[in-house]
Amino acid sequence: MSPPLSSLGEFGLVALFERAAQARHPATRVGIGDDCAVLDLGGLERVLLTTDLLLERVHFEAAWLSAEDLGHKSMAVNLSDVAAMGGEAVAALLALGLPPGLEVAWVEGLRDGLVGCARAYGLELVGGDTVSAPGGAVVCLTVLGRAPADEVVLRSGGQPGDRVLATGPLGDSAAGLHLLRGGGAGLAPEDRAALLLAHRRPEPQLALGRELARRRLAHAMIDVSDGLVQDLGHICERSGLGAELDADGLPLSAAARRLAALEGLDARDWALSGGEDYRLLFCVPGGLAAEAERVCRGLGLEAAELGRLGAGRGVRVRRDGQVSAPADQGFDHFGPRGAR
Ligand SMILES: [Mg+2]
Repeated sequence: MSPPLSSLGEFGLVALFERAAQARHPATRVGIGDDCAVLDLGGLERVLLTTDLLLERVHFEAAWLSAEDLGHKSMAVNLSDVAAMGGEAVAALLALGLPPGLEVAWVEGLRDGLVGCARAYGLELVGGDTVSAPGGAVVCLTVLGRAPADEVVLRSGGQPGDRVLATGPLGDSAAGLHLLRGGGAGLAPEDRAALLLAHRRPEPQLALGRELARRRLAHAMIDVSDGLVQDLGHICERSGLGAELDADGLPLSAAARRLAALEGLDARDWALSGGEDYRLLFCVPGGLAAEAERVCRGLGLEAAELGRLGAGRGVRVRRDGQVSAPADQGFDHFGPRGAR
């Protein structure tokens, strides 16, 4: 009997396809394994291609996210992958599976969220497909982007000694999810609102990604979608390096800290393994770190130095003076923790 998918895990599943996709089209510059595929269709620009699938009850509970939030979020998570390549987003295709009994007003909300986010970041919805999905809503968005050929930033470009930087806050989205799951009784309304907003309305860092790429400041880049440890782990794996992360230097928001204190939890865990922050994590040569920080400040962002790339494999976390390789490196759709 064939073993179940859960024995492979999400990344084992992707690897199954990656191994089979060896016969490369000459246009493929980067295939499976980065935030976007990179295609060379001629000329001085590269085409960036990415897709994301959101499923009701796996990624969202209809009661937790309004239709408009869902529309915004599905657009934002795709744009975040374009940002992670240093690209600019151009166009989107939407594939939609919806239960026939759904109210038209809900679909209009979804549309407004999608189109509003697209408009805010300068791209257009240019087509798609719809199907009846009695089991629950399915939203699949594909985004096409572009970047100058010599400015595309990959996960694989990290060098030993690179500083690992990110702009905060990290962990707010997971803290917001904690609230949606019923936690946080007694939290101040403004903290609650800020954390819920971070979870429901992530904003892709397209301007930052583009600026870092244009100035060639980042050797490697990824967006924080699965959790800091796991996402930095992807850079390490693709760059053939290891990294040490300083958990005491994480950019945590005051709201997340207050929620954690109230619940007897550690807000650093939300940043390390929570995911869905959609902030950029980038690796900068030591001599360019100050310039990268200046670029962040110019965009109204504060860069935090989280660690360094170095020899070895995987991500080690320094926390309260102790260094360890965390067993829980983030979310896996097919792993033991199952679908969220
Ligand atoms: Mg990504």
